[in-house]
Amino acid sequence: VLCYHSVGSRACGELRRWELTPAFFEDQMAYLRDAGYAPVPLATLARWLREPGADMLPDRPVVVTFDDAYANFEQAFAILARHDVPVTLFVPTAHVGDRSSWYATQAARDRMIMSWAALADVHASGVEVGSHAHRHVPLDEQPIAVARSDIARSKALLEDKLGAPVQAFAYPYGYFDAAVRRAVRDSGFRYACAVKNWTSGPGDDHLAIARIFPPTDGDLVAFARVLLHGNRSRRRTEAVSTKAWRLARRVRSGLRRRP
Ligand SMILES: [Zn+2]
Repeated sequence: VLCYHSVGSRACGELRRWELTPAFFEDQMAYLRDAGYAPVPLATLARWLREPGADMLPDRPVVVTFDDAYANFEQAFAILARHDVPVTLFVPTAHVGDRSSWYATQAARDRMIMSWAALADVHASGVEVGSHAHRHVPLDEQPIAVARSDIARSKALLEDKLGAPVQAFAYPYGYFDAAVRRAVRDSGFRYACAVKNWTSGPGDDHLAIARIFPPTDGDLVAFARVLLHGNRSRRRTEAVSTKAWRLARRVRSGLRRRP
């Protein structure tokens, strides 16, 4: 399950690492089809996680999700539609039609979030619209009553504005604990996405579906690797090579310093 944020070329500060160019996003979507992946809706994967016996998934299933509903989602959606890739969009409802004010740094706080009208449009065009809670705060750090009302308020708002049931939830920052997971279930969500940096598989919790971050730096080989192994093995490899590089540098500088 892929977790995207932004397709564009204007991000700055802490947002930059979450944004990929339209050209690289198009390359990734084309790669999915070329490499034999079968994009499926999140709901299909969630159903399979709940009833693993049912033979509903194609070979090499992949799910595309977008968090935060930045206004440039419409550009991403045009590319997704061109490649016939279903998508789930997670909306932090307090920020609809406003800016990404949950970020810490000023540079990242001024991104426009989609309006209700734009959300209704993409919903009508087949995008699954899910909740990313209301205020985009770490829910596991809130008193549970506060977390519950944040979750429930977001669902009620989305259903009211879109006139359709909302089944999908994504934990802000991927943070949750048992009480938050229960609150999401009790609010009537059918499935929920976490992060975990790992590929999803049988036995996964449908209320904490693992997601991975696709690379944003233009490296299609890295994208292929992430699809196969998730982000964790990639990080481990990077960590090892970084350590080896540091060691080599230390040895070299040690040699130089000796008379
Ligand atoms: Zn988010």
